[in-house]
Amino acid sequence: MRSEFKFIDDIRSRYELSRIGDDCAVMPMDDALDMVITADLLVEDIDFRLEWTTPEFLGHKALAVSLSDIAAMGATPRSALLSVGVPERLWKTDFLDRFYAGWHDLAGKHCVELVGGDISRSPDKFFVDSTVVGDVSKGKAVLRSGAQPGDLIFVTGFLGGAAAGLEMLLDGIRIDASPGTTTRHLLLRQLQPIPHVATGKLLTEYALPTAMLDISDGLTSDLIHLARASGTGVLLTADTIPIDPAIFAFPNFSAKALEFAIGGGEDFELLLTVDPENCDLALDLGFHHIGKVTDPSDDYRLARNGKIEEIEPTGFRHF
Ligand code: ADP
Ligand code: MG
Repeated sequence: MRSEFKFIDDIRSRYELSRIGDDCAVMPMDDALDMVITADLLVEDIDFRLEWTTPEFLGHKALAVSLSDIAAMGATPRSALLSVGVPERLWKTDFLDRFYAGWHDLAGKHCVELVGGDISRSPDKFFVDSTVVGDVSKGKAVLRSGAQPGDLIFVTGFLGGAAAGLEMLLDGIRIDASPGTTTRHLLLRQLQPIPHVATGKLLTEYALPTAMLDISDGLTSDLIHLARASGTGVLLTADTIPIDPAIFAFPNFSAKALEFAIGGGEDFELLLTVDPENCDLALDLGFHHIGKVTDPSDDYRLARNGKIEEIEPTGFRHF
């Protein structure tokens, strides 16, 4: 079956759509600024389950995923549109008020103003469409396509926590049952992700990344998106991938920790490539050096236990 990535590639070439393919579309705004814009769709029982989360966390996450795309361009978010499809069973409760409260808590932290949206009745499931608009100094948006062979690959923080949190939810562990701190940390990595907006902006100010995107699908999938856009290969080194230490507090997770970090999505850390001259600066900022950009003929590879393996996109796919 055709994947959603292939579908997007097809419409891009069929209709010659040059602005599709990055975390945000970049469009000229005035002499000083470019506009960035992104949309994200979250559907009940596909992207979230209501029995796993709270309306407030869901409102937070609906905005966080879009803010993360703005961060991945090194841009500043400004305004948002929020559209919701609401089944009657939820309309009769305080669900939507609590959802908007969670959304606004995060929006307030980033001075994002809600400027519109739409509401429709949905036959069965709740869904939300989040659009965020931002801006960035003219020509300074960080694209996925700027990586060069020889650049170093960095990630801004620990990976795998969101996937471990998801596994806990699948195992029946719930945030409202007052779990211990480590369990709560992993659940929150899944339910209430933090978009790295300030870090993204700082990185553009330093002109540090040659390419960047946020990790939503999973490290290998997103790294392959970056490599394809840049027309390069990549080599990841398994033992340098920063695995969320909380995962090791759970013995049944230890064997899966690398898999969570590589294949699990939704950590919403930023993945960036850096000219080797700027390696010290990236390390000083606390980022983790996890591999390098290679020639296109080297494809997409992972060095693990003294061996080199081909990597495949293993993250979440809708189709
Ligand atoms: P991200 O994970 O960063 O939000 P996606 O994988 O959702 O990015 O989308 C990749 C690119 O494809 C983006 O540029 C996005 O705007 C575009 N895109 C996704 N879905 C559609 C669609 N239905 N129509 C047009 N463009 C789309
Ligand atoms: Mg993204």
